[in-house]
Amino acid sequence: MKLTITNPANGNTITELQTNTKEDVHAKLNILRQGQKEWFKKPLKERLDCIVKFGALIKQNSETLAVILTDETGKPIQQSRNEINGAHNRIEHLSKYAEQWLADEVLVDFGATHEKIVYEPLGVIANISAWNFPYNVGYNVFLYALVAGNAVMYKPSEYAALTGKQFEKYLHLAGVPENVFQCVIGDGSLGQALLEAHFDGYFFTGSYATGKHIAKSVAHKLVPVQLELGGKDPLFVADDVLDVKQAAINAAEGAFYNNGQSCCAVERIYVSDSIYDAFVNAFVEEVASYKIGNPMHDSTFVGPLTRGQQIEFLENQVNDAISKGAVLKLGGQALDGDGNYYEPTVLVDCNHDMNVMVDESFGPIIGIQRVGSDQEAITLMKDTEYGLTAAVFSSNEQRAMDILQDMNTGTVYWNCCDRVSPNVPWSGRKNSGLGSTLSSQGIRAFVQPKAYHLRVL
Ligand code: NDP
Repeated sequence: MKLTITNPANGNTITELQTNTKEDVHAKLNILRQGQKEWFKKPLKERLDCIVKFGALIKQNSETLAVILTDETGKPIQQSRNEINGAHNRIEHLSKYAEQWLADEVLVDFGATHEKIVYEPLGVIANISAWNFPYNVGYNVFLYALVAGNAVMYKPSEYAALTGKQFEKYLHLAGVPENVFQCVIGDGSLGQALLEAHFDGYFFTGSYATGKHIAKSVAHKLVPVQLELGGKDPLFVADDVLDVKQAAINAAEGAFYNNGQSCCAVERIYVSDSIYDAFVNAFVEEVASYKIGNPMHDSTFVGPLTRGQQIEFLENQVNDAISKGAVLKLGGQALDGDGNYYEPTVLVDCNHDMNVMVDESFGPIIGIQRVGSDQEAITLMKDTEYGLTAAVFSSNEQRAMDILQDMNTGTVYWNCCDRVSPNVPWSGRKNSGLGSTLSSQGIRAFVQPKAYHLRVL
């Protein structure tokens, strides 16, 4: 069967790719199982050298890679460039710390019985990935898995399949053997085939619904499962911010970068009563200035949505909010003509009866709600099934910390938002996921400890 790759900016077919079958998955898994044994025996330095070379190849070819990403997902070209550059800080971080994180831990080296912990790779892992930041969410998993000595079968989303093939090409060119990394092409039914095969771990990035299905489907295998899922990330703008206009500019970027199609996009904003009107005015002015259009143009900030079917979902959220009393300040319409374009949309005077304040929008739409106190902000921020990130803008660190400590989320931000760093773990709580990528935690996810009790007789 063929998978048609469509350009979301104009509906044109870019190419068709041959899809893989269930039988391919089983055959490739057997090959990867053989390759993993040799890969793990290589010194860590050799595995790291391949990853560093991969980084250099990505750098040399970054413009081509950015164009491919923009073509198949509609991401504005400047944002595609930023995303590709994101590989380098992960690679630098791994080069600096992997040896330390994977080293044996000798706990007792005296007396009759010595004791140590050795970290062994899981084996062959399945990496099922999303389309919204396909380079980044891919790197966050497979670079760490490979360095730790695992083999990887990578299934990109059908909306980012060309990107997945690029990973495979450059990893192989960088010296990662073909029997250690394989990309398979197909839609959700191919993902299902991976769930039915016998991998040693499942690492998934995508929606809560699919994540839950994956966790249930592979539970009986008793292998590690990691889920990086969606969010409904709140931002509270307190009345003591030094510059309301700047706060509005930063909040808008957090909400509308990548057309709002980020797991950690700001999805709902609470604003202190006394600065509410000033904030809303500055926010609307900022969003109205965004250039919408051809994602290949350097100045475009808002391109088309990657998936056309999301437009109906956004329309429903807007209609629901307006019917319950929200005021539409900006946008609210799909654009006529070719491509999956939806106007950046700002709804104000929102409340939690409205879907836009509780269900992940994953698009260029934001709800803003007025709050009378920090306690009210805390209560509303916590009123969610998700637990990815939460942010506070305030000039008072203690005030922000008092709120952030109360958040049941994997990440909290003070005076920033919509941000990921290789230095600290990336993890969701509740319906936002299970386990961590990045940092020392992100490599420990791909190893299992073996305890040695060594009695010298
Ligand atoms: P989906 O859950 O729709 O798809 C994710 C992956 O799962 C795709 O490769 C998809 O294939 C595959 N898949 C679909 N059905 C099955 C199945 N039955 N068995 C196995 N695999 C399957 O998510 P999206 O790609 O739409 O990604 C958007 C979501 O991801 C948002 O909720 C976003 O918040 C979240 N996300 C979370 C991140 C985090 O770090 N927490 C980062 C990035 C995104 P195909 O696409 O080919 O159908």
